[in-house]
Amino acid sequence: MNVILMGPPGAGKGTQAKILEEKHGLKQLSTGDMLRAERNAGSELGQRVQAIMDSGKLVSDDIIIEMIEKRMSEQDCAQGVIFDGFPRTIPQAEALDAMLKSKGKTIDLVVDLSVDEERLFARVEKRAQEAAATGQPIRDDDKAEVVSRRIREYKEYTAQVSPFYAARNQLHKLDGTQPIEVVSQQIASLLPQKKS
Ligand code: AMP
Repeated sequence: MNVILMGPPGAGKGTQAKILEEKHGLKQLSTGDMLRAERNAGSELGQRVQAIMDSGKLVSDDIIIEMIEKRMSEQDCAQGVIFDGFPRTIPQAEALDAMLKSKGKTIDLVVDLSVDEERLFARVEKRAQEAAATGQPIRDDDKAEVVSRRIREYKEYTAQVSPFYAARNQLHKLDGTQPIEVVSQQIASLLPQKKS
């Protein structure tokens, strides 16, 4: 089973992906986390994407698609994946289709979490404050001016991806301002039943 979680920065994709991972045995694939890991490791890829990420812009489709292709071929993705923060553009969505088709797999569910802009800012700000309070690193792209840019990129590119899945009747829009447990129950009720 493969699930896509969509929504603007701060919509709760990561939180819901972790719950799905714990409860349903799917593997969370967050392209943002993967890129941050490359940066922390100081890899060549990490160095290439650093400035782009810190400016709040999207990393090029080629880089993202290659990274996901590599990751999807690993054993722990065999049972199913939760795509968190991917696909963010139409070319990424098309590449994902082709990739899954070549493996005889499909997308089973696409969830779009919607949250109004004002609340997105408040949530990202809270995330930065919580990180600071617990001694964790604050993401450079959680600064207010960069968050604005990330939301603009979302509107310009990523918001175009939901109609792509809606046209195939795969898109489910959920209100991401509801409590975490309510959203996770709604997602669970949308998951296709496992065949025995
Ligand atoms: P995230 O943690 O998902 O908010 O991603 C952090 C940053 O990583 C984004 O602002 C982009 O610069 C980059 N990024 C993550 N996923 C993608 C993607 N699918 N396509 C392009 N850029 C991405």
